[in-house]
Amino acid sequence: MKKTALILLAVLLLSGCQNVSENNSTDLTTSSAATTTTSSSVTEASDMTTKTEATSVSMDETTSTTPVTTEQTTASEPSDSSEFGTVGNGEKWAYFVVNTDNPLPDDYEIETAFVNDTKEMEKTAAYYCLKMVEAAKEDGIELKVLSAYRTIQYQQDLFDRNIEQRKSWGYTAEEAYADVAKNIALPGTSEHNAGLAADIVRTTDWDVLESFEDTEEFEWLSQHAQEYGFIMRYPKGKEDITGYIYEPWHYRFVGTYYAPLIKESGLCLEEYYEQYGNNSQ
Ligand SMILES: [Zn+2]
Repeated sequence: MKKTALILLAVLLLSGCQNVSENNSTDLTTSSAATTTTSSSVTEASDMTTKTEATSVSMDETTSTTPVTTEQTTASEPSDSSEFGTVGNGEKWAYFVVNTDNPLPDDYEIETAFVNDTKEMEKTAAYYCLKMVEAAKEDGIELKVLSAYRTIQYQQDLFDRNIEQRKSWGYTAEEAYADVAKNIALPGTSEHNAGLAADIVRTTDWDVLESFEDTEEFEWLSQHAQEYGFIMRYPKGKEDITGYIYEPWHYRFVGTYYAPLIKESGLCLEEYYEQYGNNSQ
């Protein structure tokens, strides 16, 4: 068992903890040129690993020299309570669609905070994620955040690495791109790039699996995630709309105002946004 776990871990590390099944979109029309990355900011890091995870997600390399992320310790409630109010304006900003057709804007910037030893999220999402993990623990349920914020740079590196790997297998450049685009979100189109998504599993899990839906951890999340502003983002039966396979592990922070409404509606975020837009109060 130990050996298996080590191999799994190695595989995860090699794949950069990327859930390669996360995006089965085959939309190849999105240009990879839109994913110019922030390579220069990485070199400023005293701790490359931490910094890479925490730098600005700006896609415009001309503005990439100054990392905006300064809060990297623990998520805490900010002094400005409007950011966390139940219907505060501050949390409505988290209610938007990120997908292949709706990449993050070039000037998207966030501050992050840790949700465990190594994973970060946007600081408000991190605050609520920690609250959720704590609440689960009080109910005897231990949740583990396996993957959270990934910089666009990270996503780009992952994407490029996978293309090179396929070329080494004998794929042409076009074949390699097409195959990778089916499995890995284009940089800037993943909710993980937004810092608003967490892949949550059991403490014993080192990978994301559909069988997570049969666990008591999933059951708890199904009942309570929306109370902390999270929705299960890629539901079963909505694959054609979301462009993603069913992912019982992937939770997206949309804020504590919208999450219960979306959950109750039975709609996925794309449908809800299409139907109600930004006007529901
Ligand atoms: Zn995910």
